[in-house]
Amino acid sequence: AGQERLFLTHQARSRELYQRALYSLAGGVTSSWQITRPQPIFIEKGHGSKIIDVDGNEYVDLHGGYGAGVAGHAHPAIVTAVQRQVTAGTHFAQPSEDAIIVAENLAERFGLPLWRFTNSGTEATMDAVHLMRAATGRELIIKIEGCYHGHHDSVQVSVAPDEADVGAIDDPTPVPASAGIPSAITDLTLVATFNSLGSIEAILERHQGKVAGLIIEPIMMNAGIIKPEPGYLKGLKELLARHGSLLVFDEVKSGLAAGPGGAVRLYGVRPDLVCLAKAIGGGLIVGAVGGSSEIMGRVVDGTYEMVGTFNGNPLSMAASRAMLEEVAIPESYSWLEALQSRAVREISDIIAKHALPAHVVSIGAKGCVSFSPNPVRNYRDFLKIDDRFNHLHWLTQLNGGVFLPPWGKTEQWTISVQHTDDDISLFVDNFSCFATTVA
Ligand code: PLP
Repeated sequence: AGQERLFLTHQARSRELYQRALYSLAGGVTSSWQITRPQPIFIEKGHGSKIIDVDGNEYVDLHGGYGAGVAGHAHPAIVTAVQRQVTAGTHFAQPSEDAIIVAENLAERFGLPLWRFTNSGTEATMDAVHLMRAATGRELIIKIEGCYHGHHDSVQVSVAPDEADVGAIDDPTPVPASAGIPSAITDLTLVATFNSLGSIEAILERHQGKVAGLIIEPIMMNAGIIKPEPGYLKGLKELLARHGSLLVFDEVKSGLAAGPGGAVRLYGVRPDLVCLAKAIGGGLIVGAVGGSSEIMGRVVDGTYEMVGTFNGNPLSMAASRAMLEEVAIPESYSWLEALQSRAVREISDIIAKHALPAHVVSIGAKGCVSFSPNPVRNYRDFLKIDDRFNHLHWLTQLNGGVFLPPWGKTEQWTISVQHTDDDISLFVDNFSCFATTVA
């Protein structure tokens, strides 16, 4: 309550705008995940690693726009590219040289030759699911309990189901994630457990010759951070191939954030399709689907018409090109690694000092504190993580000048290439303050 009161004393203008917004924006926000408690924060501008709200409060931004912000704000390379393009026209609905360069760069990083662009992660995974079905002529798909792939019908299943609904761990019950999604579609989505080849094998055996493929976050990033165990991703690929089913990696979040070539490169497993979005646009609006010649061949020959008015938009392509050529480069990853390893080390030391039942998980630019003494292998373990302290941690960081994602144990921090050692010091100091309170 004390931290909430402190928060409200700094948020007078945000409060005014929120009250006004309630009359024209549903719920006072433009996406339901922009709601923060006790009220949304209206941001005026961002520069480098910082954002400034309409009350003039400055925060070190570790929210990173839900992980899209690996470049940080107003990165000079992105600004130059967007300025160049904005004066040269912003929409032609025709391909551009930048689009070729972005596709070539992604092909090199992710080891998949053919690409198409979309306007969001949701569109990317929607196209990938359609394409799996178009390429195999099968309708069933498998997804993993606790993975989020955006808000289209086929994947709005078992995203964050309640413990009471999940069923047996080796045979999870599919649970619709939202009202408004027809069961005629969600009935085609089967659900398996992360890090369990057995749960996939059981589905493939039960539905012989009917499963188009599996869509998976190869590193789960909508249930904290859950890494694939050694051999799991390779095992998936072999298992699915044996059944004539496809493998789709949803790297919308992990993409450029986990490393320069995402999980594909980190774990050396090449899926049939990979979906990207968020960080690849350097802060602009873009998604992408890359695939093997065989599967993308179904787009080439028109079996699946992959379309969109704004696909490959010139502004987004200019920003993505700058992101890939000038920002997501080896020096940046060394810097991210240096900052992240310091944050992980110092926060882990504070956890140990106060004997908190918690541990830190990180990969590349992403990290989270998991309030569980035990390793987390799948969504069932994630359900056991204590979520009581996350809101207090969020408020303590915010009142201390650090902006984190508000969604408790599901989300991570994202470090950008423009963060500094001082930013990490502030983050760690705030964590220490929080740890002293809860210890
Ligand atoms: N896939 C993953 C793994 C995501 O984390 C998200 C968004 O958080 C999406 C897909 C959907 O992306 P978008 O919000 O751009 O539609």
